[in-house]
This record gives sequence, structure tokens and C-alpha cells, in this order.
Amino acid sequence: MFNLKKLIRPNILSLKAYSSARDEYKGKSGIFLDANENPFGKYNRYPDPYQIDLKEKLAEYKQTSIENIFVGNGSDEIIDLTFRIFCEPGKDKVLTFSPTYGMYDVSANINNVEVVKIPLDQNFQINLVETQKCLTDPNLKVIFICSPNNPTGNTINEESIEYLLNNFNGLIFIDEAYIDFSKKNSWIKNIEQFPNLIVSQTFSKAWGLAAARVGIAYANTEILSFYNKVKPPYNVSKLNQEAAINALNNIDQFHLNKTIILNEKSYMLKMLQELNIVKNIYPTDSNFILLEVQNANKIYQRLIQKKIIVRNRNSEINNCIRISIGTKNENQQLINALKNLNQIEL
Ligand SMILES: *Cc1c(COP(=O)(O)O)cnc(C)c1O
Repeated sequence: MFNLKKLIRPNILSLKAYSSARDEYKGKSGIFLDANENPFGKYNRYPDPYQIDLKEKLAEYKQTSIENIFVGNGSDEIIDLTFRIFCEPGKDKVLTFSPTYGMYDVSANINNVEVVKIPLDQNFQINLVETQKCLTDPNLKVIFICSPNNPTGNTINEESIEYLLNNFNGLIFIDEAYIDFSKKNSWIKNIEQFPNLIVSQTFSKAWGLAAARVGIAYANTEILSFYNKVKPPYNVSKLNQEAAINALNNIDQFHLNKTIILNEKSYMLKMLQELNIVKNIYPTDSNFILLEVQNANKIYQRLIQKKIIVRNRNSEINNCIRISIGTKNENQQLINALKNLNQIEL
């Protein structure tokens, strides 16, 4: 049986959250002499701690309700909060499927939490047989599933995720940073069905707002109540909230840019196939492509010399580099550079 309260760290369960001036009086108009703010200026007031305007827009766009939305200072804050809410340092564990996004590891290390790593199989899918062995560990609190996965680009099979949702009594954290590029369904629609599901998305990728630092978590209200309790009161600045609201007010632009990126991705997939140095192109539902090449370290260095920066993933996946889709011009320059490398000894 899933029991959320049993998963929460005792100090968090008993924590009395900071009550901000804006928690106590919710009206928008009034004479505000409560928060030691400066009465002059444009950004002189503390931002809405619950980001209601942003959540209302998001709820409408994502067909969910504002009570099921949490906004973080990037998804990285949401990942870190997950450790701080659920994982007792030096005692509890999380599980990841490698290779995957590096922040789960870093956040775990910062919080002194052990990471159990199960390698993805040949198709970069979850090895359920190996995973099953870990599910009964009482100290295993969270399973992170990145789908579409970074750096491999593929989506994790629905059946595997559903199996884990049904058979693990800890939290399942699905990181959907790239979902907007994918034709596959988001797990947001399942947050009421599974009491242990949290889905994170971000404004950093398809929405083009990496600089603004706005990450979103979708889950049932009970789970989110702990995120709201632990987060710093004003975790998302007014500037950042406004940037995200503006993006949501310009959905046409969002779709236009996304279409351009996806068309460019198709073009890049075609061009890369024709290069001798490319040994394998992995299937991708994201805005990046994982390539197996002849000599990843050398190719990475040669590209750097031309001021073209790709991500060398050789240390995780032998001879693989990850390339993000840029503008038409940037992509063309990469292809040209790779073509020229073709001729020289690698
Ligand atoms: C880029 C990325 C994010 C984004 O993190 P933010 O803090 O929201 O910018 C989250 N998860 C994965 C897997 C990513 O690749």
C-alpha cells in the first residue's frame, strides 16, 4: 500500500513552514506596510509566492487545475526539493536508469543520498527484471525516470512506467523536460490515477526560456503540499513568472519555433546519415540527436577548434556525442564542419 506520509522525512512532516506576509493577506490592493519593502520602483514588491497568474494560464493550456501545479526555480529546484522532502541523508536511496540527466546524481550527492543505478538496455529502455529486485528496499524512496531521456533522446515505454507506478510504493518522478518536442503523451493526465506520480516539465527547452529558470511539477495536491512547505517562499522571481506568462500568451510563436526546430531535426537526421564518420544515429523524440561516431573525443576537440560546441558523452556511452538542434545556419555549419572532418585522419 502506498502511504505518502511514511515516505516523507520526519523533520519535513513536522516542519512548520515559513509564513510570509503575502500568505497572511491575499488581497491584491491595499496599503502594504507588512514586508519591509521599498515603496518605490517597478520590482520593489515581493512576487506572488504561489505564482497564481502563471498557474492559471498553465492549467488552462495543460488541461489541469492550479492545485495540481507547482512552479520551481527551474526543474533543478524541483529535483533538489524532491531529495530534501523524501530522502533522509546517509540513509535513504533513489534509483535512476543510466545514462540519464546528470542533475539527479549531483542533487543526490549534495544531499548525501545514495543513487542506485540500473543501466538502460540496448534500446535504452528500462530493464524491469533488474529493477524489480530493488522495489522492496524500504530505503528506496524515489525512482527518477527521464522520458524522453537525456542524453539518449528516446521515450521510455509506457508499459514499464505503468508497471513501476503500480508496483513501487515510493515516488515515481517522471522528468518530461523534452515532452513538448515529442508526439507521445505526457503523464500529466495520470496524476490523479496514481498517488505516487510526479511529473516535471520546464520552460527551458521547447518554450525557449532557459534563462528565466521556470520548472513545473504536476502531481496530486497531497504531494504538492510538501513541495509548497519546503520551497523558499519567493522561489520564482516576478521577472521569471512574467517571462513564462508572456510565452503562454504567445502560443503561436511557441508552435512556430517548435515546428522550425523539428523540421531542422529531420533535415539534420538526413544529412548526418550521409556522413562516413557517423556510425549510428539513435531514435529521438527530443530536440537533440545522439550520434555514435568514429572517434568522439577527437571529433569533439576538432569541433571546439571551430568554435562549434557539442556535448561529448563518450564517458557514458562509448563514442557518442549529443547535438542540440540550432538554427538552420548553425546546423549547416555543424554539417559542413563534420564533412570536412570526414576527409582527415581521425
Ligand atoms: C534541460 C533539462 C532540464 C531542465 O532543467 P531546468 O532547471 O528546468 O532548466 C530538466 N531535466 C532534463 C532531463 C533536462 O535535460
